[in-house]
Amino acid sequence: MADTRGAQDPWLLTPGPLTTSMTVKQAMLHDWGSRDAGFIAINDRMRQRLVTMIGGEGVFTTVPMQGSGTFAVEAMIGTFIGANEKLLILINGAYGKRMARICEVSKRAFATLEWAEDMPVDANLVKLALARDPAITHVAVVHCETTSGVLNPVAEVARVVAEAGKRLLIDAMSAFGAIELDSRQVPFDAVAASSNKCIEGVPGLGFVLCRIEALEKTAGNAHALVLDLHDQWQVIEKTKQYRFTPPIHCIVAFDQALNEHEAEGGVAGRGGRYRNNCRILVEGMRSLGFETLLPDHLQAPIIVTFRMPVDANFKFQEFYDRLKDRNFVIYPGKLTVADSFRIGCIGRLGETEMKAFLAVVAEVMKEMKVASGAPARKAAE
Ligand SMILES: *Cc1c(COP(=O)(O)O)cnc(C)c1O
Repeated sequence: MADTRGAQDPWLLTPGPLTTSMTVKQAMLHDWGSRDAGFIAINDRMRQRLVTMIGGEGVFTTVPMQGSGTFAVEAMIGTFIGANEKLLILINGAYGKRMARICEVSKRAFATLEWAEDMPVDANLVKLALARDPAITHVAVVHCETTSGVLNPVAEVARVVAEAGKRLLIDAMSAFGAIELDSRQVPFDAVAASSNKCIEGVPGLGFVLCRIEALEKTAGNAHALVLDLHDQWQVIEKTKQYRFTPPIHCIVAFDQALNEHEAEGGVAGRGGRYRNNCRILVEGMRSLGFETLLPDHLQAPIIVTFRMPVDANFKFQEFYDRLKDRNFVIYPGKLTVADSFRIGCIGRLGETEMKAFLAVVAEVMKEMKVASGAPARKAAE
């Protein structure tokens, strides 16, 4: 991949915000008024293209939401879950837990089903939980749980939820644009994502793709004025204007990022590059002795969790700092099941950068006198 960062910027091997192309950054070098016809056209086009990405033409609408991805998730829950409804949240990491916290704060009735962070959620258990508690009206699931990098079986979950006559909400933040989600095959009412993950825009905009027939019934549900997707939708449809200042530079950059996503072959092309990045990373790290938390069949090509090496010379902060000195930024772990760190495969990175990164890891290990990245053997083995 051609080096199109800012000249001195580090490569971000993180869950986001990510390395973006120079052309995405350059798109922001203008001032627009929010009533500018050019900006209005860009906003319309952005909303349409996102609907097309899930095969939702005529059935779904994009409701943009100022802020980071969590603003979109909180708006989705607050708007779709009415006062007399109840949400079942599937939890196998921090982002599922965050949805439970959103329900507590917004005083929405909810129940949880929980799995270990290194396990995918299990649709069969969802089916049983729905049969046990008829008060549940909706289910929420995270597509790729960025905490560990595990890919959840969203299509299977969607099937049991639909069979039970319930509605599905998806947090697809770290998967959207790289892992296929087709609303014609997978039934759901809403999916939330953001500008700065697999679409490779800059941070500042969340969005929720909403099934229009379901969104129409949500008037008055929202617990916060700014997070009301129904109101945001109505005002944008009627006036072409946002209710409150839109992050214009971010949206214009997002439009350019969508051009580049399309030029790369859409979801299949983008996902293909990330799968290749992930394969190079995992093979290279394994050859240095490191172990992934997840077996390959559970690993989404988004972010990889590695177990902490057991070698006494390996100190994560020093490893991190030495990589950062060579212009690569990795990410600490967020797991409770194992001491770990994470390396992302997403953003404007390709084969060249992944290979350069692996060479730097080998160099840094030599400097730190770490013979192998192997973790302690698990007690069970
Ligand atoms: C990144 C992410 C979010 C949103 O995080 P923000 O920091 O608010 O942008 C939500 N869910 C998942 C699964 C994510 O990966």
